[in-house]
Amino acid sequence: KKYKPAENRYEQMQYRRCGKSGIDLPLLSLGLWHNFGDNDDFDNAAKLLRTAFDHGITHFDLANNYGPPYGSAEKNFGKIFKRDFKKYRDELIISTKAGWDMWPGPYGNFGSRKYLISSLDQSLKRMKLDYVDIFYHHRPDPNTPLEETMGALDQIVRQGKALYVGISQYNATDTKKAAKILKEQGTPFLIHQPRYNMMDRWVENGLLDTLDEVGIGSIVFSPLEQGILTSKYLGGIPKDSRAATEGSYLDASRIKPELVEKIQKLNDIAEARGQSLAQMAIAWLLKDARVTSVLIGASRVSQLKDNLEAIKNIKFTKTELNKIDKIIVD
Ligand code: NDP
Repeated sequence: KKYKPAENRYEQMQYRRCGKSGIDLPLLSLGLWHNFGDNDDFDNAAKLLRTAFDHGITHFDLANNYGPPYGSAEKNFGKIFKRDFKKYRDELIISTKAGWDMWPGPYGNFGSRKYLISSLDQSLKRMKLDYVDIFYHHRPDPNTPLEETMGALDQIVRQGKALYVGISQYNATDTKKAAKILKEQGTPFLIHQPRYNMMDRWVENGLLDTLDEVGIGSIVFSPLEQGILTSKYLGGIPKDSRAATEGSYLDASRIKPELVEKIQKLNDIAEARGQSLAQMAIAWLLKDARVTSVLIGASRVSQLKDNLEAIKNIKFTKTELNKIDKIIVD
């Protein structure tokens, strides 16, 4: 059926300015790491993207190697984009990345100019796009001069293949160095993509302050700790969950009784707030204005809808915050 986006889509979402830039991002963005590969249901993938846009999610996040197999999420996104979203290209922020393992040999990984430029060319072909809005270096590469990697990002922008650039998982020190080089080059450095959730707080140790200083925004990934920060594992491991999926990065062995006990306690706090645990975990990130957008994943539309409700209450009392901290550190 022909897709007609909901007319009230922009009334349903709130947007935050991304650092000192001209770009607003939705409080929730959708990532295509899982659920968009060749082993996944194509119609479900299309439904996820349609539902997201219908609710004002204007940002879709990809990477060269999302799938499996590598490249297939971009390829499937390209098909759906062409069919459903072509008319709305200018209403969308689409990102992709390179930096992790992609193709065999020495030029398909890490941070060389050779890898980044050729990888984005491949990504654009797969997605059938002329340009992406944001191109990221996906992870720091200690063995390549930062000047080379940042130089590649700059060239990509000059070639018109990306409007803005970003970095992912760089620590505070390297972020400062990267920002300095990008500034000297005149490269539009928009955003940092770090991992951040209630259980993984490394960004609080300097990175968020650095981003504020440098004037760039953040989009935080794995906000639900890949599904752990939801009620889904409270009664065991569902067969259709990420923890039950072979080859996923969420190992079933992580779901130990001690962890489930903590999740149960967090779930109780969420209930008292009138939220699902997933909603509370997302709200907990959005309470900090330095978090521009929370980058969620979803395997079905119902999860997306659940998560979207999070933005209705992103305020926490001191008591709630203390209780959450106590459960997690204990
Ligand atoms: P999340 O922590 O949001 O985990 C998403 C998964 O949790 C879903 O696929 C689903 O898994 C489960 N889930 C989501 N909502 C609910 C709900 N309401 N109730 C129950 N279960 C739910 O994020 P991801 O780890 O998927 O990461 C999000 C995005 O971040 C990625 O798509 C990617 O774009 C980006 N990312 C970036 C990285 C980087 O290095 N820069 C690394 C990793 C991710 P299921 O139903 O299958 O159990």
